[in-house]
Amino acid sequence: MNFISTRNNSPAASLSQAIAAGLAPDGGLYVPERLPPKRELSPGSNLAETAADLLAPFFAGDRLGGELAAICDAAFDFPAPLKPLATPRDLVLELFHGPTAAFKDFGARFLAQCLARLRRGEDRPLTILVATSGDTGAAVAAAFHRVPNLRVVVLYPDGRVSPRQAHQLGCFGDNVAALRVAGSFDDCQALVKQALNDAQLQAEAPLSSANSISLGRLLPQMGYYAHAALAHRAATGNALNFVVPTGNLGNALAAILARALGVPLGHIVLATNANRVLPDYFHGRRYTPQASVATIANAMDVGAPSNFERLRWLYHGDDEALRASFTASAVDDAVIREVISRRFEEHGEIFCPHTATAVRVLEDLRASGQDGDWAVAATAHPAKFESVVEPLIGRAVEVPPALNGLLQRPARAEPVPASYDALKRAILA
Ligand SMILES: *Cc1c(COP(=O)(O)O)cnc(C)c1O
Repeated sequence: MNFISTRNNSPAASLSQAIAAGLAPDGGLYVPERLPPKRELSPGSNLAETAADLLAPFFAGDRLGGELAAICDAAFDFPAPLKPLATPRDLVLELFHGPTAAFKDFGARFLAQCLARLRRGEDRPLTILVATSGDTGAAVAAAFHRVPNLRVVVLYPDGRVSPRQAHQLGCFGDNVAALRVAGSFDDCQALVKQALNDAQLQAEAPLSSANSISLGRLLPQMGYYAHAALAHRAATGNALNFVVPTGNLGNALAAILARALGVPLGHIVLATNANRVLPDYFHGRRYTPQASVATIANAMDVGAPSNFERLRWLYHGDDEALRASFTASAVDDAVIREVISRRFEEHGEIFCPHTATAVRVLEDLRASGQDGDWAVAATAHPAKFESVVEPLIGRAVEVPPALNGLLQRPARAEPVPASYDALKRAILA
């Protein structure tokens, strides 16, 4: 299958080319030339096998095609359990059992497995640029650490990530450089975009991205939705509806794409923090990117969700149809705090601030009479956000072993201004 740009001004690319490039040359995002037809997928196989089955049409004819099963086996080597919540017919899909305890481990590990195979036999290293408001950088750093022929430069907004997130970004070293930028996440993302569009720089140092614009991260995220929804239907006969905590729209878009491929998913509802560009759009306003505002669900502090361009492509630019298909709600910090403390007090459940936005949106749906089986996507383990969660529940959150291992390592990040020159220097170092 070939991939084209959402802006229609780039030559068609193979999957490998699209994954290696990140952004299309015209500044758009790669999308499949056409969606594979809907089909019946079979339940019962494990997560890696389900992902490989679902992804096969996208890999057909590509040089990575023969390695898809091995890539999935290596990337999806930790579980994504679907568990009941205390409230009836509510479930949680736990996406935080990977090395850095957030869902981004799935996409990052898949991308690393793809790129490691694509770079075999190249003499120059490929530098992966990643702007992160917290979890992306850690997942990418962990996934690429010590992979030969690859380097990582991570940019994050200084002071806007949790202490444990900052530690995870700085604790790798070797082929991973962490830059703490005096600016916002949007500044970091703009710098990365500028570098990726800089042909002169690319001639000196081949670059790629690992943000959620990368197809190599977006596509594999369909795997866990497919695995959960197929298992749920096999067990209950019901489609599974989802509320997805949303920032750059990568995770939710994966669910939307999976449904378009025939995965038995029902409604897909977006939950955001106080950054309300998407809720405003779905309530009928024009899509207007904004500067991001800082919240306690900081991995969702996004004012210009990069995958929105892909969502619009999927609906052929038809805003009416798009608005009719989804709802999105914003949840501000005060409500996030209330949800975390109340769900712990009433049910002993502990959620990270991002997951709490989805829990709240699900509570609102139930209060307005919504029935069916619903799951929230739990995007990170609450131990990653201990400075928010622990004071609210009045006890320590147990740290998962993999995360604990990272926290034991020494960490170091270089402070830089939010300037392109500073980024160029780091890339060429
Ligand atoms: C990245 C992230 C999100 C937002 O996901 P998008 O794909 O950017 O919408 C939500 N929660 C956590 C914990 C994250 O790390």
